[in-house]
Amino acid sequence: MTRLVIGNWKMNPPTIAAAVVLAREVAALPSRAVEIGVAAPAIALPAVADALRGSRVALYAQDVHWADAGAFTGQLATSMLAGLATGAIVGHSEVRRDQGDDDARVAKKVGRALGAGLRVILCVGENEAQYAAGETEAVVSRQIGADLADAPRDRLANLVVAYEPIWAIGTGRPATAAHATSAAATIREALTRAGIDAKMTPILYGGSVTATGVAEFARAGGIDGALVGGASLRATEFGEIVAAFDR
Ligand code: PEP
Repeated sequence: MTRLVIGNWKMNPPTIAAAVVLAREVAALPSRAVEIGVAAPAIALPAVADALRGSRVALYAQDVHWADAGAFTGQLATSMLAGLATGAIVGHSEVRRDQGDDDARVAKKVGRALGAGLRVILCVGENEAQYAAGETEAVVSRQIGADLADAPRDRLANLVVAYEPIWAIGTGRPATAAHATSAAATIREALTRAGIDAKMTPILYGGSVTATGVAEFARAGGIDGALVGGASLRATEFGEIVAAFDR
């Protein structure tokens, strides 16, 4: 199974020039087997693509729209990523929270991005109240079923799922490896129910992954890599996270 470590830079670094510096640092990181990627802010994609050219680091958008073109202020069409990005994050909880993405909208985005030949990193995960109520399995199962409803069957080799419990994102309180493994198993069952070859679908863990805490996720059953937010902005630490999965 492919192992991937993807940095989600979110609305960082503060300038395009700083994004280029970070991209060059990431491009210089050693890796043998693990695939490295970074998801840069939309405005920095062309400059970061140039900085990464010739390296083994893949570039991702942080979101895409489902339409070809038109009156969608602030959005990115998949065609605009041609020659720049190999894929896109879709369904990140911050986009679900801030831009009103529900599962129906996420499904349209996933379908569009896969159809356009992009690799999709689909984010799913429960919120704090759902976690406390023991609803993780129900939530991620429902999300997988709904979010993949429009996914073209012949493009599923380009699907990656990131299990990102919302309560662990940016809080400094990662899930335990046991919880991540259990959620990954639930995701694979839901993928299978949706007629998808779960053995071929990498599942990443995301949520307060740091160089200090990464080892247990790198060893965890069913986890094929990490989606890294805050720690991906520090190239040295990001390199340590990559190294933990690089075996
Ligand atoms: C994320 O937002 O995808 C994420 C995992 O963030 P952090 O690592 O900062 O918790």
